[in-house]
Amino acid sequence: MTFPAGAVTGRSRVVAALPVDGGWGVVVAETPFHPLDTAWPDQPGDTGVLRWDELELPVADCVTGAVPLAGGALLTGEDVPVRRGDPDWAWLVVHVLERRVPEDEVVELDVEPVRRRALSAGHTGCHLMALALNGALADRWRKDAPRTDALGRPDFDQLAITGSRIVPNGSVDTYRIGKSLRKRGFVAEGLADELDEITTAVNGRLAEWIAADAGVRLDVPSEELTARRLWRCDLPEGKASLPCGGTHLRRTGQLGTARVRLELSDAGDELVVETRVESA
Ligand SMILES: [Zn+2]
Repeated sequence: MTFPAGAVTGRSRVVAALPVDGGWGVVVAETPFHPLDTAWPDQPGDTGVLRWDELELPVADCVTGAVPLAGGALLTGEDVPVRRGDPDWAWLVVHVLERRVPEDEVVELDVEPVRRRALSAGHTGCHLMALALNGALADRWRKDAPRTDALGRPDFDQLAITGSRIVPNGSVDTYRIGKSLRKRGFVAEGLADELDEITTAVNGRLAEWIAADAGVRLDVPSEELTARRLWRCDLPEGKASLPCGGTHLRRTGQLGTARVRLELSDAGDELVVETRVESA
């Protein structure tokens, strides 16, 4: 697993090739391909090619698979009946191909680099947005929030998020502003009237952080696919961190711009934040 460090190429041995939805699921000993996560499907799986012999085989998708250690079939995506990381199962990166590649063959793996880079940019922008949004909403908490982010602000992002979708050069994050969030101290009154102000504050903070050209890295505690990896970014305000299974740029300055658009539902109970980034 070399994608957390940013790799897009590799050479490895095929350890399994099994039928899956849409073709064959090929598993190799070590891969640069990022798979869609089953538990938190935010960043899409990489696409690219697998070279074997004289053949150049398209990798149409890359997903997370699991096999019971006691024996059984390879399952992928929502078919996996246990929690992500269940120790009685082996967790695997599954490359979805149209045809089978024999076990023990050595193959070359090439992630489509332009799409990967755009997804990494979108993912880095997404995490920066989350921290900037926490900052812009910090004075909307009536009492001490039940948790704060790494910069010490009430963690609206982690307390309210219901879904995050990384797209090339952007992300769409959905937050629920319901009864339980209000009970925990978030003041939702008047939010609709302040959306422009909040948008300006978030965009301003993002521009500062991009100008600071802060270093970005992923801490990888172990080689397992389901290990709890940590995104780290040394911002002017402090060292930020967030749990993350995706891929990222190396510096915030690799983003040229990042801007958000906020949309609050008519009932005021759902906030959608669309982030768009441009590469420097
Ligand atoms: Zn992430």
